[in-house]
Amino acid sequence: MTKSNVHGLSRRRFVAGAAAGIGLAGFSRPVRAQAAPRVVVIGGGFGGATAAKYVRMFDPAIQVTMIDPARSHITCPFSNYVLAGFRTMDSITHSFINLRANGVTQVLGTATVIDPVAKTVRLAVGDPIPYDRLIVSPGIDLRFDAVPGYDEAASEKIPHAWKAGAQTVLLRQQLESMRDGGVVLMSVPGNPYRCPPGPYERAAMIAHYLKAAKPRSKILILDSKEMFSKQPLFQDGWKALYGDMIEWVPASKDGIVKRVDAGAMTLHTDFAQHKGDVINFIAPQWAGAIARSAGLTNQTGFCPVDPVTFESTVHRGIHVIGDSSIAGALPKSGFAANSEGKVCAMAVVNLLKGKPAEAPTYVNTCYSLVGPDYGISVAGVYKPGPQGIVEVPNSGGTSPREAPLDARKAEAVFAEGWYRSITADIYG
Ligand SMILES: Cc1cc2nc3c(=O)[nH]c(=O)nc-3n(C[C@H](O)[C@H](O)[C@H](O)COP(=O)(O)OP(=O)(O)OC[C@H]3O[C@@H](n4cnc5c(N)ncnc54)[C@H](O)[C@@H]3O)c2cc1C
Repeated sequence: MTKSNVHGLSRRRFVAGAAAGIGLAGFSRPVRAQAAPRVVVIGGGFGGATAAKYVRMFDPAIQVTMIDPARSHITCPFSNYVLAGFRTMDSITHSFINLRANGVTQVLGTATVIDPVAKTVRLAVGDPIPYDRLIVSPGIDLRFDAVPGYDEAASEKIPHAWKAGAQTVLLRQQLESMRDGGVVLMSVPGNPYRCPPGPYERAAMIAHYLKAAKPRSKILILDSKEMFSKQPLFQDGWKALYGDMIEWVPASKDGIVKRVDAGAMTLHTDFAQHKGDVINFIAPQWAGAIARSAGLTNQTGFCPVDPVTFESTVHRGIHVIGDSSIAGALPKSGFAANSEGKVCAMAVVNLLKGKPAEAPTYVNTCYSLVGPDYGISVAGVYKPGPQGIVEVPNSGGTSPREAPLDARKAEAVFAEGWYRSITADIYG
């Protein structure tokens, strides 16, 4: 190993990782580093950062390299509260710096090519990065080919805000600039998509802001589905807190948007045209670009995986976790991605030692706020079965429909605790 080509990384990108304050520890003893198995992780979000951290925790002898274009991750969870105005972007931004304590090296950049034969990952510049096992967790991409009129350029005027960051800020600014009495249109895609209850929590959070700042305004949700996660709980909460401010239109009542006219700020359905002062278009989704270009997806646009190890059924030696994967009954949630990241990390450590993977259990809880003091939740435990991952009967459920306000308030506190503990688990 030469100094300029440590672990297959060019000096420039390695220094970029070091400058980010990440992971010099793995390189301090070249002899051991040379012999150590190499795990590369694409993506530093809920799935990827969890897997990177836990591989190192389960076996500190393994070299772990995490590739992500940013030095920190802005979480989608709690980004709806930025729209409501009671959370800041800073409070949902988590630096990768503490992953260093576990010896994870970050390569700053975007993975562009996976070579499953040579077992390398390429970025736009620099040498290929070799791996013994690769974990891919790039999240979702919005499908800019799915609905005529909605492409990347249109998203600058009509944000999806389904990846937290600049899009979240844009949507918040648009809400702040809107006149009182304006109409906020939301379009929600069919399944599967990231965070099944997310759009309905978002509607509530926008209503929370409008009720205080622009009380004559309306929110119209055009939905491509007939029903949605925690529906009775959301609809009870909307009514209790916001009266008639939120209207929901299911697919069968002409809720499916067929065309977007960004210039005229109009959504076209089969039988109507809806003009919005602000439009939040949550487009259909598929696996992140690197998973698609590597051929890891099937006709659904997502990646089929082994339900025990999350190893791709297309390319052995590559694991796909988080929203990009097809995880059976597990929802596309941050909690599920975190759970998958830990299970996958353990499986990878075992497989590198020639041991079989252990039978896993997965967990998920999704809290949603209807108001800052009004929380609801759905929880479940999941196991691999012959047909993929299934929910364990009677393992979870939703908040009771009839519950005193104290119970809703307690769930809002639990939601806050959940966010603190999961982000500390991943990035702390
Ligand atoms: C509004 C909203 C609210 C939500 N609320 C909740 C909630 O309350 N609870 C919950 O459990 N879940 C929630 N979710 C869902 C949660 O955000 C996702 O399920 C979770 O982030 C999925 O994790 P992931 O690792 O698959 O993707 P992400 O967390 O999105 O991470 C993907 C990472 O990969 C990186 N990346 C992508 N491509 C490349 C590449 N080629 N090279 C290198 N890096 C790359 C990206 O930069 C990113 O950092 C919410 C989602 C939304 C949109």
